[in-house]
Amino acid sequence: MWNYDFVLPSALVLLIFLIYYFSRPLLPIRMNRTFLWILVADILTIVTDFLSSYMDEHYTEYAIADIRSMNMAFFICFLARIYFFYLFTVDAMKLYRKMKRLERIGATSVAIVSIAVTISSLFSRAVFWIDEAGYHRGPLYNILYVCFFFYIGLSFLLILIRRKNIPSSDCIALAGYQMVLFVGNIVRIMIPQYLVMNTFCLLAIVIIYLSFENPDLYLSERGYAFNLKALRDVLNEYSGKQLFRILGVVLCNYNDERTMYGGAQMDQGIGLISRYIKEKYPKRIVFYIRSGCFIILGNSEMNCLSMRRDLIARFQKPWEADETDLYLTPSFIQTQLSDCKVPEDRLVNALVTSLDDAGKNMLIQTPEDELPSIQQVYEQMEVKIVLEQALEQNRVEIFLQPLYDCGSQRIVAAEVLARIRDADGRLIPPGCFIPVAEKNGHINEMGEQVFRKACAFIRDHDMEALGLAWLNVNLSPIQCMRSDLSRRFTEIVNEYGIPVKYIHLEITEQSMVDYAVSRKQIMELKAAGFQFALDDYGSGYSNLTRVKEYPFSNIKLDMQVVWDYFKERDFLIPHLIVAFRQMNFTITAEGIETEDMARLMKETGCDYLQGYYFSKPLPVDEFTVFCRKQA
Ligand code: C2E
Ligand code: MG
Ligand code: MG
Repeated sequence: MWNYDFVLPSALVLLIFLIYYFSRPLLPIRMNRTFLWILVADILTIVTDFLSSYMDEHYTEYAIADIRSMNMAFFICFLARIYFFYLFTVDAMKLYRKMKRLERIGATSVAIVSIAVTISSLFSRAVFWIDEAGYHRGPLYNILYVCFFFYIGLSFLLILIRRKNIPSSDCIALAGYQMVLFVGNIVRIMIPQYLVMNTFCLLAIVIIYLSFENPDLYLSERGYAFNLKALRDVLNEYSGKQLFRILGVVLCNYNDERTMYGGAQMDQGIGLISRYIKEKYPKRIVFYIRSGCFIILGNSEMNCLSMRRDLIARFQKPWEADETDLYLTPSFIQTQLSDCKVPEDRLVNALVTSLDDAGKNMLIQTPEDELPSIQQVYEQMEVKIVLEQALEQNRVEIFLQPLYDCGSQRIVAAEVLARIRDADGRLIPPGCFIPVAEKNGHINEMGEQVFRKACAFIRDHDMEALGLAWLNVNLSPIQCMRSDLSRRFTEIVNEYGIPVKYIHLEITEQSMVDYAVSRKQIMELKAAGFQFALDDYGSGYSNLTRVKEYPFSNIKLDMQVVWDYFKERDFLIPHLIVAFRQMNFTITAEGIETEDMARLMKETGCDYLQGYYFSKPLPVDEFTVFCRKQA
């Protein structure tokens, strides 16, 4: 009655798959585990299918209970297999964690109910029964097909809904293997005696293997360790679910070393290092990203510090490639990711960026506490997003910090300081976002928004009534490089219809580094009527000759200089102040926090004082209240 022609070859091919699959490194992620379940369920289905069919055919030779058990086993494996095929589609689309609990339970319950009904056949004869006359189909036999088509239908539906979120090649592969299963089941219904379903399942497995499960897809070039794709998938799965630690190992100056030792030698070195790490830490997942960057991932028990010590010790010795000994220097980054879900691409970007940074600048081993932390980089990326949103929605805020005039003993001006807020409305200080904005080119846009808001403040308020003679606006060195800076600022000032005398611009010594370029813009702005202050004097090179060549009217002493002087008087500061005054600069002391500091700096000859003693930077409304109080 049964034709076994298809069974044996299918079983053999499957066996080869299993052996090959286990001989390669396996990435511990859901999708791979599900694939393993498919393989196991498939092989058990083939075996039980074969045995039960044989026993059904020769029912007189076997005990009824044995025939019944074998059939039961087959039906259960058959149902489990189709469920795992469905689950694989879910996992490959990374949907499992996105589905609601109820959806997951709902989807699983169809398999559970079908299996329960099958098991109940022992008493109810629902799906099948065995008696002296052999095997009989029960009235609910078709539940097998219902279950089968349910999961195939559901898979197709998910693929259809989510097709935009996955690469089209994945989409085709998933739909392809579901289609093969569908056809297989139709053929099974039409010619059940050929036991052909197993062959179709094998075809589906081949499709899955070629598109998703080939272990080589997850291995780095030359198979040293897992690759970036693997890292992405692992992070996608682990992030937000469990606590895990990451230790990044970077070969310093990789490109230089590669040129020096030669590509082949270096590749060998990478192989040796990968093997060493994998053998030394068998419980950890090791990734080789690129250009000498490794990542070791472990659970919360992974002790990064001791691993770093081990690795540093190992790197003291050379790596013995065929023709030469490689002396390489590692650098490290480490981080712990908690249970907050972070999108994996951002995480990977942050990791790769900090690995790159770590590898570039170190020939000498950096002290451990100075290593760049991925968390910092990640925060920077968060800041970048918040900044971009603030820029887009014109939500960069200005705060104003009063400037006290020692002569009139009043607040006569204010410094405009930029602020942005994160999603929870918390203020992010400029120390965090200005460097980010400078790095990615947003600083021009941000500077302009701040400048516009300063202009709007001047337009909307009666400056004289507030006792204000001007506002100081900060200019970043990058802004100073723009050749159209003067034109833009003049246009904006005209647009707001305010006199240009109300705006002073603060620049730091850094802006003077590229002398030829920045001086031109600054001279143009000066000619347009803007006044200039030199910010943070004493924090950088403090080149006096340069100071003379720029049209400053005011020098702001950096707060560190002020604090140092307050702690320990020296001759330099008073003399410097005298010199500046002789050069016709007015002097502002920043960072005045106490009455004593205010008195001292006033006595030392400063014209203006700024600091928390007078007021912290205030939001616009509070600032005007503050000004009116003194008026
Ligand atoms: P800055 O221009 O030197 O501004 C003075 C900084 O010192 C402000 O920090 C202010 O809050 C802080 N400060 C003032 N008085 C005291 C004090 O008594 N004690 C202490 N500990 N700190 C005091 P903030 O607002 O965080 O700004 C930091 C820096 O960010 C600014 O230094 C400036 O260089 C930059 N920045 C702020 N807004 C802008 C902007 O719109 N454009 C550009 N390019 N840079 C800006
Ligand atoms: Mg400033
Ligand atoms: Mg300053």
